[in-house]
Amino acid sequence: MSLSITLPDNSVKKFEQPITISELAASIGAGLAKSAVAGKINGEIVDIRTLIEKDSKVEIITIQNPESVKVIRHSAAHIMAQAIQKLWPEVKITIGPVIDNGFFYDLDSPRTFVPEDLEKIESQMQKIAEADYEIKKEIWPVNKAIETFKKMGERFKVEIIEDLVKKENVKEVSIYHQGDWFDLCRGPHVPRTSFLKAFKLTSIAGAYWRRR
Ligand SMILES: [Zn+2]
Repeated sequence: MSLSITLPDNSVKKFEQPITISELAASIGAGLAKSAVAGKINGEIVDIRTLIEKDSKVEIITIQNPESVKVIRHSAAHIMAQAIQKLWPEVKITIGPVIDNGFFYDLDSPRTFVPEDLEKIESQMQKIAEADYEIKKEIWPVNKAIETFKKMGERFKVEIIEDLVKKENVKEVSIYHQGDWFDLCRGPHVPRTSFLKAFKLTSIAGAYWRRR
């Protein structure tokens, strides 16, 4: 087979077999490969480990590209949740979306967070960034995901997956791992935790999970 990849400058690169976004970046230049955060295949933003399997328009999203911001912020939210669960294992996680000026993660905690906790969480996040964990995606059948999160007492994740099964009839879900921590997530994410360089936690607020 032959694979044709059209780059943003309309140049076309040909390959003999499917390649990942990061391999494509490396084929263009080592500097580009190093600063690649994510990719875009026919307009859809994806992880740099995603395989390009058919002729496509592909863009490499680097740290300098404003589009990398969302990916980095959501990865920061995962790292924050990992840090919090390392510090307080009894905390359960819900969802952590990106917002206009940053990120957050909704948590269920028996203990009330105080502003002084932010510094503790930040230094734990720093440790996770320095550990440079690979951020890897896995596809799990829904049953495995439900069983696993049930065992962990992550009842919000169980609720989310059960909802996906009911509303969208999904059979599989994607799970993102970093070190010994993982989360149900659509992604995409930066390839390694060391991509998180600068962050600041600014506030703690009460939230109500799917308040009826
Ligand atoms: Zn996520």
